[in-house]
Amino acid sequence: MKRILVTGGAGFIGSHLCERLLSENNEVICLDNYFTGSRDNIAHLFNNPRFELERHDVINPFMAEVDEIYNLACPASPIHYQYNAIKTIKTSVMGAINMLGLAKRTRATILQASTSEVYGDPTVHPQLESYWGNVNPIGIRSCYDEGKRCAETLFMDYHRQNKVDIKIIRIFNTYGPRMHPQDGRVVSNFIIQALQNKDITIYGDGTQTRSFQYVDDLVEGMIRMMNTPKTFIGPMNIGNPNEFTMLELAEKIIQLTNSTSKITSLPLPSDDPKQRQPDIGLAKEMLNGWEAKIQLEEGLKKTIAYFKGK
Ligand code: NAD
Ligand code: UDP
Repeated sequence: MKRILVTGGAGFIGSHLCERLLSENNEVICLDNYFTGSRDNIAHLFNNPRFELERHDVINPFMAEVDEIYNLACPASPIHYQYNAIKTIKTSVMGAINMLGLAKRTRATILQASTSEVYGDPTVHPQLESYWGNVNPIGIRSCYDEGKRCAETLFMDYHRQNKVDIKIIRIFNTYGPRMHPQDGRVVSNFIIQALQNKDITIYGDGTQTRSFQYVDDLVEGMIRMMNTPKTFIGPMNIGNPNEFTMLELAEKIIQLTNSTSKITSLPLPSDDPKQRQPDIGLAKEMLNGWEAKIQLEEGLKKTIAYFKGK
């Protein structure tokens, strides 16, 4: 039995990861400050004796004896990470330093939930791990993008200098049940608007693209990554390469919800990436043929069912 720490474990992705790790008979410590996560997301795990909950902020050091760490603590939606930009960058950078320090002391393997945002508004398409990105260091998304880039740097330096066992994954847009209904991300926004027959808010002309991955596929990829040989550290993309424009997404959600919503256009926020699609060749090679299994329509149906029940 392994003892596994999941920071940000009460969030959207973290709650699914905790659930899956418990189902595989691990002990799980879920650490969260509940900024964007909630106890509701993990309430169904409370009566499992192998599950522990810690209210803690990763900008402060944390002590525990653990075998593995999944470092997810960080607000992930533009609304939430821009709400307190300084706190966001502190969470990424100081959180990484504190969790890497813990990994160093305990000799745990630590996996960083990095992001496709490290590629910024990419000029290379699809994005390969070797691409260094096109990131504005002084814009409104920088607290998140540059925070995550700096965390990657820290992971590499702890690995080179202190021989810490690390894994870096770059997660592409992920959706599913337990997304925060008010975090403003496109999938949850459109579903909630469609279910209420309200206008669907497209930012800009809706031709910008994203490639959407269902959360279960991501969790499978994360666990496989953690279990790769020590010599493989990434960074590695995890995403579903099926790419859609925001207009296509809106139309699909209107159709799946039988909604009478109309599409309306709002200004495009600054630095909003025009296109995004992962190259997952490395993931397929290193994770025994891993690839996303749940395509958009199936994943949207599950997510719509979740929001209908809220
Ligand atoms: P989320 O906001 O639901 O989860 C983040 C969790 O971290 C929340 O429970 C929050 O309360 C917690 N947290 C935030 N700051 C903290 C702090 N200082 N100390 C302790 N806990 C803190 O978002 P998510 O979508 O589940 O994202 C999880 C991770 O995956 C994040 O690191 C995010 O950057 C990364 N990621 C997500 C996506 C995506 O599409 N969902 C894409 C790329 C990367
Ligand atoms: N978006 C939109 N309407 C919304 C929310 C988002 O058109 O109500 C757009 C946003 O401008 C971006 C895309 O959808 O181009 C994805 O936004 P999200 O915040 O989900 O993720 P990210 O931009 O971080 O990939």
